[in-house]
Amino acid sequence: MRFHVAGAGMAGLCAAARARDLGLDVVVYEKGDRPGGSMLLSSCVVWRYRDLDEFRAECPGGDGELQRQIIDRLDDGLAWLRSLGADVVWEETGNPRTVGLRFDPRSLTDVLVRAAGEVRLEETVPGDAEPLLLATGGFQGDRELVREHIAPGGELIVRANRWSTGDGLRRAIARGASLSSGMSEFYGRAMPAPPAAVPEERFVDLAQLYGRYSLVLDEEGREFAPEPISWSEIDLVQAIARRPNASAWYLVDEEALDVEIRGRAIREMVDAAHAAGGEVLLPNELGVELPEAYRYAVHVTAGITHTIGGMQIDPQARVLRADGSAIEGLFAAGADAGGISTGGYASGLASALVFGLIAAETAASI
Ligand SMILES: Cc1cc2nc3c(=O)[nH]c(=O)nc-3n(C[C@H](O)[C@H](O)[C@H](O)COP(=O)(O)OP(=O)(O)OC[C@H]3O[C@@H](n4cnc5c(N)ncnc54)[C@H](O)[C@@H]3O)c2cc1C
Repeated sequence: MRFHVAGAGMAGLCAAARARDLGLDVVVYEKGDRPGGSMLLSSCVVWRYRDLDEFRAECPGGDGELQRQIIDRLDDGLAWLRSLGADVVWEETGNPRTVGLRFDPRSLTDVLVRAAGEVRLEETVPGDAEPLLLATGGFQGDRELVREHIAPGGELIVRANRWSTGDGLRRAIARGASLSSGMSEFYGRAMPAPPAAVPEERFVDLAQLYGRYSLVLDEEGREFAPEPISWSEIDLVQAIARRPNASAWYLVDEEALDVEIRGRAIREMVDAAHAAGGEVLLPNELGVELPEAYRYAVHVTAGITHTIGGMQIDPQARVLRADGSAIEGLFAAGADAGGISTGGYASGLASALVFGLIAAETAASI
């Protein structure tokens, strides 16, 4: 039996490699001109919460059965990636809430491509392909779908591979798939606002991660940040997305500049935004009455990395209809499979790995 996989990113490559282990004949179709998807651009920390209770508390709107699969299966998945020869650069996440590994994204992509077998670049899946795994990486790259579901207050910067434009979602809807929870949510980062230049190789180092150490104002000078801002700042980034021009100002004082977040001082992140051509002003230049302590005002905009909503799957990675029945021969994994981290933040790479493996196993059992 031939197993068709749409997308040569994290979910698609993991699924293809596992399906080959299980004796399936596999073809991976990749729309872009290179494999790796957003995984290749990522920090590549593949992680989970320590237990299901924490996952539920952090992502209360997510599907508990899907979350359970990630808690139960991620460690074996990580060991499998390591066994394929992927280079591990950190043995832990550096975050006490989570456990996982950080891989080198180039090495991970290369070993997965080797293990996945036939990867056809710049090709999409034929209309009648079945069984089929949709692993096209979400719909963040499609302005219309983003407008419809996320309704931002301005154009969002796409902080992801440029080919994930909702193809998987459209195809699944055409086959009667139901949508998951969290269709209006996304994972992203605050990035320097235009005219800053934000090329894809700088998605990681230009991220402005210090909203919770800042006074956050919208372009009209109003405070709007969630109170408190969560550790991941995903709630703040989504709130920025809905302000005028999907933008905000982060005002930082002298003391905050030396605070380190993930090994980098806030001062370095401000400097990086400035060097990239972003607007970094003195607070009095904003024309807003402010205490003198603020040293800089940095103009940021919401960058969308991947959508949180997508198609509803079951714990076997089968795409579901609204009545809860599975659509025969149709699977989804990675950002195409939605509703796992609704209401919060969880590792997209972990979900792609776990449900990629599961999709392959389910397909092999047909
Ligand atoms: C800068 C950055 C940092 C990140 N850091 C982390 C991190 O540290 N930890 C973490 O867990 N997550 C991180 N992520 C998110 C992570 O990369 C994604 O969650 C993950 O890659 C999702 O896997 P996926 O397989 O769904 O999508 P992808 O890996 O993006 O793969 C999707 C693939 O599908 C292809 N495609 C699209 N449409 C079609 C089509 N019609 N036919 C065929 N192919 C198609 C795309 O070209 C792409 O290659 C980061 C992302 C970015 C951009």
